[in-house]
Amino acid sequence: MSHPFSLSNVKNIIAISSCKGGVGKSTIASALALELASRGLKTGLLDADIYGPSLPSFFQLHEAKVQANEFKLLVPVEHQGLKLMSFGFLLGDAPAVMRGPIVTRYIQQLLFQTDWGRLDFLVLDMPPGTGDVQLTITQSVKLTGAVIVTTHHNLSLVDTARGILMFEKVQVPILGVVENMAYFTCPDTGKKYYIFGEQKAGALSKRFGVKTLVEIPILEAMSGDMAAFKPNEYIRKAADGLLQAVDNMQSFQTELKDAGFRDGRVVLVFSDGRELSADAFDLRANCQCAVCVSETTGQRLTDVQKIPPDVNPAEILPLGNYAVGITWSDGHSSGIYPYHLFK
Ligand SMILES: [Zn+2]
Repeated sequence: MSHPFSLSNVKNIIAISSCKGGVGKSTIASALALELASRGLKTGLLDADIYGPSLPSFFQLHEAKVQANEFKLLVPVEHQGLKLMSFGFLLGDAPAVMRGPIVTRYIQQLLFQTDWGRLDFLVLDMPPGTGDVQLTITQSVKLTGAVIVTTHHNLSLVDTARGILMFEKVQVPILGVVENMAYFTCPDTGKKYYIFGEQKAGALSKRFGVKTLVEIPILEAMSGDMAAFKPNEYIRKAADGLLQAVDNMQSFQTELKDAGFRDGRVVLVFSDGRELSADAFDLRANCQCAVCVSETTGQRLTDVQKIPPDVNPAEILPLGNYAVGITWSDGHSSGIYPYHLFK
């Protein structure tokens, strides 16, 4: 029998998000979902982009008719073992002109009144941006984590950082960044040209501890025709990275129980009894925040000599499930320190 709570048998919900439109977010979300399904994982894809649903045209399902079952739940459309639901199935391709509360209601209907059944992964293709609709979604469901899709061209650290911070605010870990249209490979020499610069994602990963799952070159940037989609090496790599990140995160599923300062080290104690620590001065001196390191040049802006040798944490706050924020005794408070810095 189908369960009345449509998400209760969904193991992992992954939000695919972008800070701007036009970076290929929906294409990546669809391709990742197809790749997960092809690996035998029970997968669903929810096109939550209520303003511009792309799923019906991607999968050439313009005529798809969504039915309700005996429990008044919407039955997803199936394609190559993937369960699909889109606002576009309910409305057709006509763009929706809707505001605030109505949008929220429709999104919640798609989320909670679709009969997803048992799923290993539900991939949520989020509407672009970091506004109210996005926040509603992140607060309505327990997301396992988020993947941020960006391009070098549009990659502004400020925008992407805003996206990361939105998820952090609601304690949703960032599983990684997919950089679409990252470089151009010369067909004659095979040499890579990062025509938009290659340092940017590195800065993101240093600053927030987020990993780049894959860089997809310009010519391989996929078209939105999923009916004929064949996963390429880049999507396989992104899927590998995503599964690995979910695994790593679950090994940290135990919560941070206590944090403190002992023998010059910042100590984190987890609810399963594990203890990790890092030298307090090293953490402070290698801080990667925007105050400490220039976003444009990557150069260190603070004078390490001026940090008191006995610097110690005045306050330690958990961020998401993968990092702590520390307010230091010297007043510095903008750094984020991922768990992987602690041994
Ligand atoms: Zn800093």
